[in-house]
Amino acid sequence: MRDPVGSEIQRVIQLLARVPGLGPRSARRAALHLVKKREQLLEPLAAALQVVYERITTCTTCGNIDVTDPCCICLDPSRSPHILVVVQDVSDLWALERAAILKAPYHVLGGVLSAVDGVHPEHLNIPSLLQRLENSSITEVVLALNATVDGQTTAHYLASLLPPQLKITRLAHGVPVGGELDYLDEGTLTAAMQQRSLL
Ligand SMILES: [Zn+2]
Repeated sequence: MRDPVGSEIQRVIQLLARVPGLGPRSARRAALHLVKKREQLLEPLAAALQVVYERITTCTTCGNIDVTDPCCICLDPSRSPHILVVVQDVSDLWALERAAILKAPYHVLGGVLSAVDGVHPEHLNIPSLLQRLENSSITEVVLALNATVDGQTTAHYLASLLPPQLKITRLAHGVPVGGELDYLDEGTLTAAMQQRSLL
C-alpha cells in the first residue's frame, strides 16, 4: 500500500521523531498541525530555526549557547560579579533561569565525571572555570550539580581544585516542594534531616 503522506512531509515527520520527547506518533501530529497552521506557525518556525541554525554559537566564557559570544547572560551587568553558579549542562542553566532565584553568571561544565560513561576531568570545561576564577571578584562558587552519585563526585572533585579562599556551596538536598515524607527514599530523608533549617 502506498504511504498516504508525501515524501517531503514524511521527511519532516522522520526528523521531528528524532527530537527528544517526540516519538513517531507525536511527530505525525506535530507535522500535521504545522502544515495546517502554515502561515501562523510553520512559516515563523522555519524562519526562527533558520536564524538559530545560522547564528547559534557556544559562549567561550561560560559554555552557554546563544546567538552571540559572549552570551546574553555573560553580558548582563545586573548579575552579581561575586557569585558563579556551576552547572552540568545548558538545560540546567535554563532550569535555574526559569526559576529566577539568583542573579549570577554561570559556568557550564558540559557533563559530569562518570566512570561508567568514561567521562574524565579532561572532557569537562574545568580549565576555563579555573581561569575565570583567577584574578576575579568571585568570592562564592555554587556547585549546582545533580544530586546523583556522578554529580556529587564531580562536586567534590571540583571543590578540591578550587582556590581555598573561595566559599564553595552546593544546592541543599531534601524534601521537594509539595513532597510527602511517606514517599521519600531514605537517602533523601537523611539529607533533609541533616540539613534541617530554622523555621
Ligand atoms: Zn556566557
